[in-house]
Amino acid sequence: MYFYNRIKYGKLRLIFVQVKNRQNVNFERLWQFGCSKWVNTIEVPNGKSIVMKQCKISSNNIALAAALLLGVVSAKAQLKNDYPIQPVAFTQVKVTDNFWAPKIKVNADVTIPYTFEQCSKTGRIDNFLVAAGKMTKDKLTEYTFDDTDLYKIIEGASYGLQVTKNQQLETYLDSLIAIIAAAQEADGYLYTFRTANMAQPHDWVGSKRWEKEEDLSHELYNSGHLYESAVAHYQATGKRNLLDIAIKNADLLVKTFGYGKEEKFPGHQIVEIGLAKLYRVTGKREYLDLAKFFLDLRGTAGHLNHEYSQAHKKVIDQYEAVGHAVRAAYMYTGMADVAALTGNQQYLKAIDDIWKDVVEKKLYITGGIGATGNGEAFGKEYDLPNMSAYAETCASIANVYWNSRMFLLHGDAKYIDVLERTLYNGLLSGVSLSGDRFFYPNPLASMGQHQRSAWFGCACCISNMTRFLPSMPGYVYAQNKNDLYVNLFVGSTSEIFLPNGKIAITQKTNYPWDGKNELVINPEETTRFSLHIRIPGWAVNQPVPGDLYSGEMKSKKTVEITVNRTPVKYAMEKGYAVLDRNWKKGDKVVLELPMETVRIQSNEKVEDDKNKFALQRGPLMYCIEGPDNKDSAVLNIVVKKDEAIKPVYDPRLLGGIMKLQMKGSSAKRQLNTDELIQSEQEVTAIPYYAWANRGPSEMEVWIPYEASAARPRPASTIASKSKVTASISNARMLRALNDQYDPKDSRDANASYLHWWPKKNTTEFVQYDFDKEYTVSQSSVYWFDDGPFGGCRIPASWKLLYKEGDQWLPVKVKSVDTIEKDKYNSITFEPVTTTALKIEIQQPEDHSTGLHEWIVK
Ligand SMILES: [Zn+2]
Repeated sequence: MYFYNRIKYGKLRLIFVQVKNRQNVNFERLWQFGCSKWVNTIEVPNGKSIVMKQCKISSNNIALAAALLLGVVSAKAQLKNDYPIQPVAFTQVKVTDNFWAPKIKVNADVTIPYTFEQCSKTGRIDNFLVAAGKMTKDKLTEYTFDDTDLYKIIEGASYGLQVTKNQQLETYLDSLIAIIAAAQEADGYLYTFRTANMAQPHDWVGSKRWEKEEDLSHELYNSGHLYESAVAHYQATGKRNLLDIAIKNADLLVKTFGYGKEEKFPGHQIVEIGLAKLYRVTGKREYLDLAKFFLDLRGTAGHLNHEYSQAHKKVIDQYEAVGHAVRAAYMYTGMADVAALTGNQQYLKAIDDIWKDVVEKKLYITGGIGATGNGEAFGKEYDLPNMSAYAETCASIANVYWNSRMFLLHGDAKYIDVLERTLYNGLLSGVSLSGDRFFYPNPLASMGQHQRSAWFGCACCISNMTRFLPSMPGYVYAQNKNDLYVNLFVGSTSEIFLPNGKIAITQKTNYPWDGKNELVINPEETTRFSLHIRIPGWAVNQPVPGDLYSGEMKSKKTVEITVNRTPVKYAMEKGYAVLDRNWKKGDKVVLELPMETVRIQSNEKVEDDKNKFALQRGPLMYCIEGPDNKDSAVLNIVVKKDEAIKPVYDPRLLGGIMKLQMKGSSAKRQLNTDELIQSEQEVTAIPYYAWANRGPSEMEVWIPYEASAARPRPASTIASKSKVTASISNARMLRALNDQYDPKDSRDANASYLHWWPKKNTTEFVQYDFDKEYTVSQSSVYWFDDGPFGGCRIPASWKLLYKEGDQWLPVKVKSVDTIEKDKYNSITFEPVTTTALKIEIQQPEDHSTGLHEWIVK
């Protein structure tokens, strides 16, 4: 227990601390809260010892330190077990570079206000008001987990407040927290979808509390995000308003769940991570025990469930990543937390095995995980399709959380390799440069059917991005006693408190465009500590641990490190160059990483990457996108394996990027012959994260080096030159009709299509207006049908009309195929000379319908 004596304000902020029961106090912890130097110690040994200490604290930590000293967070310092390595808090790392700093600023200035506004517009805040009885409504929002969006955005906003004070924002958060408090039931239960007591409850809400928890209710998922948010808000502001709501809810869970009580595991994991955070802040062991209970219950008798929610076997018996990728990665993160806090070795063994499975067999080169949209899940080994890649933004964020925890457990740079790859590629692609458009899936190839959206009914990825970005500086450094880890290369200034003293570190770098990183070390006094500088896998020809991806630099450049301009020999330890020495003020370490473009090839078991390479330069993966290339086409491009590649920095393109230029060729089909027209062209690649900021277009990460792996551009046809209209006006869907890409089958969601779901039993139309008059006599249609589970089926009937003057007349049919899926249905008719054709479609009585492609001859 700490007793706070007094804080003297002035140039030196002094705090007098009295500590009882010293055995349980971890003073290193206190250092991390900002105590820079102990100046006075009095020990009175009498059983329970009393220690008087006096320390300076930095100004931005004063609220936190005061709260700590007041006993609010006292228990945090008493934890005996936690990660051996601790991250240097993002509040101590001020990012000053030209890459991340602008992105964090856009998140604060645009994304957070925008997403709060969306929460309000879409009724997410109303959900709480209805539950609180302050508003009546016929219907709540779409999903029972919509409460979490508000929690996550409050979390992101709080992170921002820790760095930059903003009274207006803080007041706004308080008003939201008051609404959340009003929606909480007297015993702590907080779940608007039940409390609102709607006449027509949501299908996922059981008749009793927690009844459908293992399935889809998301009651515990909501709690988990609430706890994370509450801890962030409390640490940022020192206010307990949200923390108290979280504690009240967690106490209810402790009372409710456990062996012999309510035995249910969370359908969607995250409450485990939330409980671990709440335990660290409050020291209440019950929270940690509950997190462990939730993990241990999965997959036991009576709680065996599908792989989808990782409840197909006990967590300690799992060794492969399966099921819903976000749930999975949150669970592995939670297992790492509980393992660190309890010393549980079985959890460690399981997540070590699962990590290997993911990194060696199930990871996209962009760091994305969860290959299939079918259950938003991990695919089978090596099943990594590009165009239909799901690689949900949330899964990338979860992958960063998980890998950062793995590093804190093991101290190995390979985890940061995966983290960095995900961060710079598959995670960052989730948000537009403007900060207000978002990807849910992050595909690695596109025909133009993928675009970031302003919002999703299920907004998980959006709110997750708002909370992740401001916390990003917390991944730059970590420390373990007097070992200081430099994990990411980000221009920044930092204050780090090691047991041997306070160190100020400045990183100057133009990373990721440039491989030179300058670290200026300024200890308060000359002091010994060990600097562990991560040597990224990409800099030593090991893009990812294992043999899923490989690629070698042509030049045999190696990593160079100098200290005060003198090259130094260093020992390598778990992927780190270790410099153990006495550091004095102004010591300058220069790390030179070989920044060369490398062609990555994937393991030959990955079907979709055969005869293709991907371009990597430093931590960035590249893609080719329409706007930078001839005819806005890229899927038809082939680049030779040994083609020279030139990096060119373009300050005006996409916020300033290093683009890659090379020679290549493209192929185009001709009508009525199989012979291709080949032509040489310049090919330009851009960083993957920056794609889809210039409207719909083709894109691919994996570039064919064999012509057989490319898709030659189709010859122009009457259809492809036509203007498309329909009884629906979605531009992307309209383009699908004449994009000349044949689907694999009718349900192929990878090829773009047009549909009228959820409308049923209506008459709809699609229309081609030709570029000039043609005489036509044949037409073929490929229907979209995603039965038996989807909402679209082949139509009940259809007919073809042509335009004569202002009239639409039916064609005189010579022959017509029966309506069937998985093939083109053709119609031949008496030739007509016209400027437009139209198909009228009668939708089935109980379903919608759709079209993949429409050909005219
Ligand atoms: Zn998501």
